[in-house]
Amino acid sequence: MITIKSFEFNYFQENTFLLYDDTREAVLIDCGCCCKEEEKELAGFILENKLTLKHLLCTHLHLDHVFGNGFIYKTYGLKPEVNKLDVELLPPPDEQAKLFRLRQPVENIPAGKYLVGGETIKFGTSELQVLTVPGHSPGSVAFYNKKNGFAIVGDALFAGSIGRTDLWGGNHEVLVAAIHDKLLSLPDETVIYPGHGPETRVIDEKFNNPLL
Ligand SMILES: [Zn+2]
Repeated sequence: MITIKSFEFNYFQENTFLLYDDTREAVLIDCGCCCKEEEKELAGFILENKLTLKHLLCTHLHLDHVFGNGFIYKTYGLKPEVNKLDVELLPPPDEQAKLFRLRQPVENIPAGKYLVGGETIKFGTSELQVLTVPGHSPGSVAFYNKKNGFAIVGDALFAGSIGRTDLWGGNHEVLVAAIHDKLLSLPDETVIYPGHGPETRVIDEKFNNPLL
């Protein structure tokens, strides 16, 4: 059984997800903590629950999803795992911060490993399948767990909305096609955890999302 703990971090109200199972092994997805208080909240939860972090995964490389990568690297020695396309086609996070005129310093932590569509990420006795969902960014991915019936989808799909496509390498048609092909094709009851805002279900987005 996988437990999903979510945190809402940084000015962009980004959802950071910490997943763990009965073995206490954990994966962190989209670490957005960007100040001492948020770092303390995350590290405190990991310590209290005696978790061992095995992977730092990124759905994509937009700034608000990677603020905490420097902290995780320094504290736990993990480098981010990300689709190569976002590394190649997006400005590095510190450049993005300048373009958004943020004063917040952001560290560029090089990828420790490139994620490939269809591969399986393991922790404890659990696994996540990597699904490529391009369009919001060229290298966007989702992490799907069939057994527990959920997917962490980054900024591809939101409750009642879809990701913006006006940033580097974004493409609206590509995004809509990927959502239909990779996400709405999952079982109806699959719970969708977006990168911002509340969770939803495949069946709700299939029938009630005005943008799809
Ligand atoms: Zn994004």
